[in-house]
Amino acid sequence: MALTAPFLHLFSHLFSPYLSSFLSFLSPALFRTLLQLLYPQGCAVCGAPGPELLCAACRARIPVRTTEGCCAVCGKTLLTDEAAFGTAAPVCHACRTRRPAFDLARSAAAFQGPVRQLVHGLKYRHGFRLAEPLAELLHGCFLAHFAAERPDLVCAVPLHRARRRRRGYNQSELLARLLARRLALPFAPGLLRRVRDTPTQTRMDARQRRDNMAGASRVSEERAPAAYGKCVVLVDDVMTTGATFGAAAAALREAGAGRVLCLSVARD
Ligand SMILES: [Zn+2]
Ligand SMILES: [Zn+2]
Repeated sequence: MALTAPFLHLFSHLFSPYLSSFLSFLSPALFRTLLQLLYPQGCAVCGAPGPELLCAACRARIPVRTTEGCCAVCGKTLLTDEAAFGTAAPVCHACRTRRPAFDLARSAAAFQGPVRQLVHGLKYRHGFRLAEPLAELLHGCFLAHFAAERPDLVCAVPLHRARRRRRGYNQSELLARLLARRLALPFAPGLLRRVRDTPTQTRMDARQRRDNMAGASRVSEERAPAAYGKCVVLVDDVMTTGATFGAAAAALREAGAGRVLCLSVARD
């Protein structure tokens, strides 16, 4: 078995486009057993055997976000009293009162169902491989909302050293790196640094989160020229009030970034 497993994997990678249709001639039970042998991991959400980390059924359950009824700046779903009827690009109270440091923020999906499971897997269970299907969602979101933009580089919302050490990696950086590859843009690792560790924001409101995050990120001095005058795509896994994006965008602006587009996999 130790010898056959790698062979089966190589075989499945070479022939995966044809394999499923070929195997489908077999009885359903045998088909399932063979798939389980070939792809022991299966779908990371429902466990269905197959080559995809996110199966078609789970993918179809992802509630993709559109811009309809959302703030033209931060992408938040507008409350009924915020939606200015007849306005092509309504803006939420928060963005109207205090314009965020970023130009636009958009999220691929709501933070629920399969996306919640995948993001948690990526963050807490060392599911590096889950970054790929999530980066695919980010890419789709980029094409849907930022197609008219001409970004120069991609960077990630930074994680504080201590937290990064505990987790072993920065999940947003994994996503940003994969997105940059899909967009054929340079990825700028370490452009932003988290200079202050911040308490968890779960129980904070929007204002407290903003104060909590203010000045928490900086652009490293030696890398600042890379951001000067550039249009930057800033990536994070989950966006809540936009405080984290706002603080990171403010740091990029301070370094002279011309335009900051924020993109997150999910919106809480
Ligand atoms: Zn599934
Ligand atoms: Zn807004």
